Amino acid sequence: MAETFAGSFTQQAPLPQEAFDAAMAVLGGARLHRYNLAGDERGEVAALEAEYAAWQGRAHCVAVASGGQAMQIALRACGIGSGDAVLTNAFTLSPVPGAIAALGARTRLVEIGEDLRIDLADLRAKSPGARALLLSLMRGHLPDMEALAAICDAAGLILIEDCAHTMGATWNGTRSGNFGHVACFSTQTYKHLNSGEGGLLCTDDPGIAARATVLSGSYMLFGRHGAGPEPDAFEAACLDMPNLSARMDALRAAILRPQLPRLKDNIARWAALYGAVAQGLRDAPGLVLPPAPPAERRVGSSIQFRVPDFSDSACEAFVAGCSARGVELKWFGRARPLGFTSAHRSWRFAGAHALPRTDAILATLFDMRLPLTFTPEDGTCIARIIRDVLGRTRAGRAA
Ligand SMILES: *Cc1c(COP(=O)(O)O)cnc(C)c1O
Repeated sequence: MAETFAGSFTQQAPLPQEAFDAAMAVLGGARLHRYNLAGDERGEVAALEAEYAAWQGRAHCVAVASGGQAMQIALRACGIGSGDAVLTNAFTLSPVPGAIAALGARTRLVEIGEDLRIDLADLRAKSPGARALLLSLMRGHLPDMEALAAICDAAGLILIEDCAHTMGATWNGTRSGNFGHVACFSTQTYKHLNSGEGGLLCTDDPGIAARATVLSGSYMLFGRHGAGPEPDAFEAACLDMPNLSARMDALRAAILRPQLPRLKDNIARWAALYGAVAQGLRDAPGLVLPPAPPAERRVGSSIQFRVPDFSDSACEAFVAGCSARGVELKWFGRARPLGFTSAHRSWRFAGAHALPRTDAILATLFDMRLPLTFTPEDGTCIARIIRDVLGRTRAGRAA
């Protein structure tokens, strides 16, 4: 009988006991709003902001309601508004162009290369007239960050990093999120810290931090933040910035704080799991793994690969064959988006774009979640099944 896999691709690791205890303490006190504090009490959200800023190595951190809200607030805090052109790579998730659209700004999509990273030549070509690059480090693949930052500098682009998949990753020893003006993180369940929903915005710029704080909905209580700038930074921001009501609440912060000290260990576990799957897929006929540049330390919370010679129907058969054996693959070439996977043709709100190279790459790109409930042995088993189904699909046989 053909080998099958029984694990769940959507089951995240259990939360630490401290997260339960901290959540119960918050619930017991009923002070769930971040500014509902007793006396001089600091509160869970301010404590998370201080701890995350220190961990990330940035001066300021503002906790918000989601990663998408972090991006929208970051763009506004950088002065981006209606009609401005904002660049972003075309391989990303819909909240990225969604954040740009929410401002009434114009999305200018940049091609990706076969390495799944933003195409730096196309970025350079599309930069004139654009105000910012919202760089989506989609699925954790880091481009040459020094070269990218130099292009942004030369073109006068504000650089905002979408680090939803790179929290904890580094490029040449520098933490992802520390290359641009602002970095945005998500603490949604499928990312590297899990509070269901949530976002973190980091910057060294006191003006951006002040504007982001007021935009998040600080009700003139910006002094109660954990890693905010000096009070004078709020002078203009507190009257000029609209309140977008995108705060994080105490319950989520309480759940997140005990996870942060465990992130380093979790990254090591993800590396072992990713390594096992990648090793198992290496040299599989027809399958291409993205390159792993020596400067990159990725967080292996998912894996991608291409099968460039597959037709659409072969891609469909391959996904169905893997699914029948318990391995859940997503395919970026699907004509209609499914679940969390989508391509630029389904972002009608962002306008129509001609991206022949990106389309050709996404047409045979597969994606798989690697939750930490899987062991490296699971990874090896998953890779064996993928190889087997791949071989059968290539031979035109049923999985
Ligand atoms: C999840 C995700 C986001 C946004 O996160 P939410 O917290 O769900 O709003 C942004 N960019 C990418 C690439 C993501 O995968």
